Amino acid sequence: MNILVTGVAGFIGSNFVYYYLEKYKDRKIIGLDKLTYAGNLENLEKLTPEQKERFVFIKGDINNQELIEYIFETYKIEGIINFAAESHVDRSIHDPQIFLKTNVIGTQTLLNVAKKYWQKDTQKFIDGVKFLQISTDEVYGSLGPTGYFTEKTPLDPHSPYSASKASADLIVKAYYDTYKMPTNITRCSNNYGPYQFPEKLIPLMINNALNHKKLPVYGDGKQIRDWLYVTDHCRAIDLVFENGRTGEVYNIGGHNEKENIYIVKKIIEILREKTGDKEINEKLIKHVKDRLGHDRRYGIDPTKIKEELGWEPEIMFDEGIEKTIEWYLENQDWMKRVISGEYLEFYEKNYGGK
Ligand code: NAD
Repeated sequence: MNILVTGVAGFIGSNFVYYYLEKYKDRKIIGLDKLTYAGNLENLEKLTPEQKERFVFIKGDINNQELIEYIFETYKIEGIINFAAESHVDRSIHDPQIFLKTNVIGTQTLLNVAKKYWQKDTQKFIDGVKFLQISTDEVYGSLGPTGYFTEKTPLDPHSPYSASKASADLIVKAYYDTYKMPTNITRCSNNYGPYQFPEKLIPLMINNALNHKKLPVYGDGKQIRDWLYVTDHCRAIDLVFENGRTGEVYNIGGHNEKENIYIVKKIIEILREKTGDKEINEKLIKHVKDRLGHDRRYGIDPTKIKEELGWEPEIMFDEGIEKTIEWYLENQDWMKRVISGEYLEFYEKNYGGK
């Protein structure tokens, strides 16, 4: 079985490639990625030689319909998991347009090609074959101090990023409602773990603290996010792709709600303990002007995926954050290369040409 996975060189996409090729020894991933600033092929270098034989990388844009058609035709694609996205809220506030282009139009381009090929080959959609859209809890907006997002919570996105993800979810739903295309949508809480681009909270704080730079915290730092270790997310995605009921949305989250300031202080504590560096301390924290339209609290109710598919998180926050910090400590060269932009040269060197 060949599946098309987009956004494979990003944080969650690359973790998913490792997870999936390890679990399914007879399957192949065709990985598509535009290699934006957030895409780094070095993230996939640790695949084993055997796994590399079951992984084909194609550099390209999910908006390129001709290319997607070529991939379907050449590799007889039997399912799509769409991770590709512009994913950083702050960037979406400064430059929303690319978010609409990639997250909305790109998703619709993928859906359109998938629909065409499934009809052409079979005159019906292949049983069990899916279009899985990887979405986010941010589409639900912000919560007060109590309550959780369920799959029935109305969409109420606030940032250009979350609005673009909500729009993509609606177009996926439309392809199911209109054409009965076999789709699913997963909406996950904040992920953390290896290979996350250092503009996001946890790797940013780790890197700044290691370099004794200020740790910028938005506003009072009491915004609450529900944190999930990335491999728990990958396992949930796999379950939905395999066994999720067609047309359904599944929320994914592990009831690990933490204030941002708690996360920052925890990182300081663990890093100081692991490195013995006394200059890593709370004096590095600098409260900065809050993000525009900053959502106050996200919290996921994962009852549906738990009851229908038997998913539960395996890695709780205290364990996950230790593992994550250890990974970044062991991979400081990766971090340096990412920050210096050196990884952009990696593709040219290893794959030649644009
Ligand atoms: P990321 O920014 O690390 O990776 C995104 C990848 O998509 C990059 O490799 C980038 O090069 C690629 N890409 C961007 N535009 C593209 C295009 N037009 N065509 C092809 N490839 C393109 O993001 P991530 O954190 O790995 O998130 C992956 C997905 O999961 C996103 O859809 C995001 O909305 C969703 N999500 C993320 C989180 C989180 O906490 N990180 C939580 C829930 C959902």
